[in-house]
Amino acid sequence: MSGTNGIVISGMKYKESSKILTVYTEDLGKIRVLAQGVLKPKSGAMASTEVFALSSWNFKRGKSFYYIESVDLIDSFYTIRNSMERMLFGFYALELLDKSTPDEEENLVLFSLLEKFMTILKNEDNLLALIVAYEIKFASFIGYRPHLDSCLTCGNKNSDIWEFDGTKGGILCPTCSGSGRDRISQLEKDQMISLLMSKLEDVRKLDISESTLWRFHKRLSEYLLYNLDIRELKSLSMIGQGLL
Ligand SMILES: [Zn+2]
Repeated sequence: MSGTNGIVISGMKYKESSKILTVYTEDLGKIRVLAQGVLKPKSGAMASTEVFALSSWNFKRGKSFYYIESVDLIDSFYTIRNSMERMLFGFYALELLDKSTPDEEENLVLFSLLEKFMTILKNEDNLLALIVAYEIKFASFIGYRPHLDSCLTCGNKNSDIWEFDGTKGGILCPTCSGSGRDRISQLEKDQMISLLMSKLEDVRKLDISESTLWRFHKRLSEYLLYNLDIRELKSLSMIGQGLL
């Protein structure tokens, strides 16, 4: 089989010296890998089996698992581990991907988004804008792009204030909104569109306040969990406790 790039999104020790990994790959989508003997000192592949690591892999397909024929580390993204905030946001992105994608379904756009996210995360200080942009792009790439151009019900495009309704998947004008629970201004609606449309490496330049970004993060994470039918993400609860 020809090589494919892949990022380790989770891993656990198996028996004495092996690991079972979940790897998100460019060509095969999400796969389960039995990394035999990888914890032996002489194996030389250990760094490639750490969570976050990006490598070029050659796999052999088995019955229940893929097996490693050869692997070359591209980037361990070790600086992500140097900061608790970066690590938590990184884990959150990986957990979200793991919980929402089926095994062995190739998705080049999702792989590229993840690879780019990690590359920026390893040096980025404006983490909040990065994670919110990741959330809204991720939602869009898996088929849940929020409708932000006009009122979902009547198509009205002009209003100073809107309501975001995550269960309906977009915004409602005051005439059509029911609860008015999650209100957003015209400016905030436009900022959400900017986060969606800007390149991931450019979102740090957007002029959006920290408190607004936290509100977007809360809104989008709830939106994702609702649509993906996920009850809880461990990393997400930790982000809420540690940084808010
Ligand atoms: Zn309306």
